[in-house]
Amino acid sequence: MDFLEYTRKLDREDPLAKFREEFYLQPNTIYMDGNSLGLLSKRAERTLLHTLEDWKEFGIDGWTQGRQPWFYMSEKASEQLAPLVGASPEEVIVTGSTTVNLHQVVATFYHPKGKRTKIVADELNFPSDIYALQSQLRIHGFNPEEHLVRVKSHDGRYLAEDDIVEAMTDEVALVILPSILYRSGQILDMKYVTAEAHKRGILIGFDGCHSVGSIPHSFSEWDVDFAFWCNYKHLNGGPGAVAGLYVNRKHFGVLPGLAGWFGSDKQKQFDMEHTFMSAGNAGAFQIGTPHVLSLAPLIGSLEMFAEAGIDTIRSKSLSMTNLFIQLIDTELAGMGFTIGTPREEAVRGGHVGLEHKEAARICKALKENGVIPDFRAPNMIRLAPVALYNSFEDVWNVVQMLKTIMEEKQYEKYKNERDVVA
Ligand SMILES: *Cc1c(COP(=O)(O)O)cnc(C)c1O
Repeated sequence: MDFLEYTRKLDREDPLAKFREEFYLQPNTIYMDGNSLGLLSKRAERTLLHTLEDWKEFGIDGWTQGRQPWFYMSEKASEQLAPLVGASPEEVIVTGSTTVNLHQVVATFYHPKGKRTKIVADELNFPSDIYALQSQLRIHGFNPEEHLVRVKSHDGRYLAEDDIVEAMTDEVALVILPSILYRSGQILDMKYVTAEAHKRGILIGFDGCHSVGSIPHSFSEWDVDFAFWCNYKHLNGGPGAVAGLYVNRKHFGVLPGLAGWFGSDKQKQFDMEHTFMSAGNAGAFQIGTPHVLSLAPLIGSLEMFAEAGIDTIRSKSLSMTNLFIQLIDTELAGMGFTIGTPREEAVRGGHVGLEHKEAARICKALKENGVIPDFRAPNMIRLAPVALYNSFEDVWNVVQMLKTIMEEKQYEKYKNERDVVA
C-alpha cells in the first residue's frame, strides 16, 4: 500500500471524520491555519443566523426571548466551555477578548506589597500579553523594565520549567505564562509550575489561546488561579469571537479589578443600584454588554466539541502531527527544514512549526498552491492540522506540495518578507 492509500485508510477509520462536512472548506484548498482562525461551521452559522432572526423579530425582547436569549448567552457558552478547560461552569465566563481578560486578571489579582512587586512572564510570549503587562505595571507606578521578569529561552523555541521556577523569587507577586507557546507549540507543565508558584505564595495563571479546544486541561484540579483565552482559534467561534476567562472558585467573591454592570448578580442587575452586587462567580468578571453577534457562533461550534469529546480530538491531533513530523523527516530531508516543535507527544500542542530560512516566501508559494499555513517571523511556517476538519490525506498533500515547491524552487518568485497580516 502506498502512503497516500495509507492516509486514506486512516481517514476511513477516523471517528471524527464526519465533522469535516460540517465545515465550510473551500474547493482546491487545504486549510492549515486553524490555530490562527478556525473555520466557519454550519452550526456556528446557524446559531448566528438564529440570533439575527431573534433581533429582527423581538427587538429589545431578544435579551430574554427567542431561541437563545442574549442575557444568558455568555453563561450558556461558559457551560459548554467548562469541560474543555477542566472547570465547573461557574468558574468559566465567556466575555471580553484575550487581551481585555488579561487586563482584568492583572487588575484583579496583582497586589504588589513590600518587595513583592514583580510579574513573571517569558521572553517568547505573545506581544499583546507583554504590552498588557507592561501597561498594568505602569498604572501601578512601576517601571516595566525592572518589574516585568521575562524568563529566558535557551534556544529561542522552548522554555524550561526549572527556569520558570527559578524566576519565582520572593520579589514576585504574579506569574502569567502561555499554556502552549504560540510559535513552537510547546505545552508547559501547568500542574507543576502552578504547584511551585503556590509553594512560594505566588498567584499564577495561563494564556490558553493555543490550547483551549486543542488539548484537555484540568485547571481546577491543578489549582490554577485564573486563565484566559480566545475562542476564534481552535474553537472556531469566528473572527474576534468573545473570549474565555477562568477564575478558580477559591477566588469567588474577590472584587473585579475592572468592574461593570454585567458582572452583577443577574437577578439584581436591573435594579440599577449604585452598589455593585457581584455575580459571585466567574461571571463577576464581565464588564459591559456582551458582543452578542460575536458570541452566537460559538454556541453552535461548541456543540461539536461536546459531541466529539476533547480526548478524541487530542488523540487525532497527535496522530496528525506525528504523521506530519514523520513525513517531513522522510520526504523533505536535506531541503533545509528544521522541526521547531517538540517531538515528544506529551509536550506537543496542536501545530507543527517548520523552520526554514526562506520561510516567508515558502509560505507565499504554499498559498499560491492552495495550502493555507501561517508565517511567524523570522523563519517559521506553522501548520495546524485540526482534528475536526482536516484529514490525514491533507497532511500528506501538504508535505507533497512543500516537496514540489522546494524541488522546483517555486518560492524564488516571491520576496522573502511577510505580508501585513501574516
Ligand atoms: C491569539 C493570541 C492573542 C490574541 O489576543 P486578542 O486579544 O484576541 O487579540 C493573545 N495571546 C496569545 C498567546 C495568542 O495566541
